Amino acid sequence: MVSTIMNYPLTLNHLLERMNTVFPKREIVTRRPDRSLHRTTYAETYHRARLLASALQKAGIQHGERVATLSWNHWAHLECYYGIPAVGAVMHTLNLRLGPTDIAYIANHADDKIIIVDDVLLPLYDQFKDDLGEHRVIVFPFAGEIPEGMESYEDFLLTGSNDFEYPDLDEMDGCAMCYTSGTTGNPKGVIYAHRSMVLHSLVGATPDMLGFSQHDVILPVVPMFHANAWGIPYGGTMVGAKIVFPGPFMDAESLLDLFESEQVTFSGGVPTVWMAIIQALEKEPERWDLVKGMRTVVGGSAAPPSMIKRFEKFDIDVLHAWGMTEMSPLGTVAAVKPHLQAGGREIYEKYKFSQGYQAPFVDLRHVDDLGEQQPWDGEAMGELEVRGPWVASSYYNNPDAQDRWSDDGWFKTGDIVTIDDEGYVQITDRSKDVIKSGGEWISSVDLENAIMGHPSVSEAAVIALPHPKWDERPLACVVLMEGASLTKEELDEHLSAEFAKWQLPDSLVFIDEVPKTSTGKFQKLTLRRQFEDFQWDDAGTASGAAAAE
Ligand code: ADP
Repeated sequence: MVSTIMNYPLTLNHLLERMNTVFPKREIVTRRPDRSLHRTTYAETYHRARLLASALQKAGIQHGERVATLSWNHWAHLECYYGIPAVGAVMHTLNLRLGPTDIAYIANHADDKIIIVDDVLLPLYDQFKDDLGEHRVIVFPFAGEIPEGMESYEDFLLTGSNDFEYPDLDEMDGCAMCYTSGTTGNPKGVIYAHRSMVLHSLVGATPDMLGFSQHDVILPVVPMFHANAWGIPYGGTMVGAKIVFPGPFMDAESLLDLFESEQVTFSGGVPTVWMAIIQALEKEPERWDLVKGMRTVVGGSAAPPSMIKRFEKFDIDVLHAWGMTEMSPLGTVAAVKPHLQAGGREIYEKYKFSQGYQAPFVDLRHVDDLGEQQPWDGEAMGELEVRGPWVASSYYNNPDAQDRWSDDGWFKTGDIVTIDDEGYVQITDRSKDVIKSGGEWISSVDLENAIMGHPSVSEAAVIALPHPKWDERPLACVVLMEGASLTKEELDEHLSAEFAKWQLPDSLVFIDEVPKTSTGKFQKLTLRRQFEDFQWDDAGTASGAAAAE
């Protein structure tokens, strides 16, 4: 029997309308490139997003065509988040931290018809513009003026009209597009649907996921070009939260200043950002007066437990989450269930530090090399596979990559995990980073987390290096805290409480910084290349001192 319920499409246009009808006075604050603050409202954003949609329509943008942004996090980027999909086009957020060749490859692959660029990013645009196909460029004029011959975003908006009418949209129509940062092979594009984005926003806002409300002041540190800023702009505006954008200033001090001045209650970003923030807070504990009980979602790579604990001292609650560009990105969040909270500190920490359990509507399973499903016993390791209403079922225009999906349609994440009987996932590694030593696996993530818990260590990455006897052995690459020192023996002693002797890194090298990807994750491939000629000594080990030379 068919239901008697309306068939009402889930589109972002509903969220855009809601901004004006329900929360017109809510504020959106941005730190401009000249560091001054810009303030606007939901009503104004609604008005300008619709002008943008209308201007795009008049400019001849067709249903499904891509309109790209090359932008920091700011108010006009939010207008694009709503205005581009409103007209049936697909918003393609270009990653400004990639090199010009990669950006050109991605913009050409996506066939971007219009590129909206921040004026402060024109020097980057200039480096790849000649490699692009035919396109129109529109410039956000932060500085008030734009170079001769270029079109200003403000002038472009004036070509739109207030009586814009939304075209008919199907909820499965594309609304936005992101490319994975391509740590292996060429970047691959994912096209999100209106429906998937709406469902992702609804679920993401629920209390045990990110838990947004209109009482929140939300500052996404995660860039709007990184997997839709994890859905924060849509989820945050859906509930009517005040939104604060950091513009180009992602350093710890600038962020802490904004947290304090705007009384931010919720933020989110990759662990490297939060490592810098905790170090700044510990250096000057009295300097910033932050909202008590502030929350932040940390994901993109494993949040070190020691970091989560250090934030507790400042009354900042870290929500550890796992996700992927291919999943819009939300997959799991580490909310600790009441009966586990009641189990004492040790049990609480075990779950708090894990990657958490699946979001509603996300299905998980993990399989061994033969595709055999593994038990949820917290012990058996396997590759995590996922499916759900906001999980990609293919890459855009890339049939060769279809092997990332199982025969029965689950997406293969490439992450090696355990899942326990409570449903909590523990990511032990990326399949390409796990250290295969003498037939056993060593988790590079576990080692890194433990090493970063040592007071002398600022950052650490552990990589697998080929070994004559054991196939691979771990090498610890450590960045020391200013003025600190560490010997291999001290490191072994620190790790031996948690790890068996054969799991300890064979060697310790000191580096100035851990190389990072365009989204701020550890770039272990670069380290593996840097140390590919590393020589173990005759016994198959190298002393820390020798290795560090
Ligand atoms: P890319 O693969 O291009 O870096 P994503 O940002 O989509 O882009 O990265 C997804 C990957 O990031 C996951 O497959 C996983 O390996 C890693 N990741 C994300 N969140 C976490 C987390 N909380 N803990 C460990 N790894 C994580």
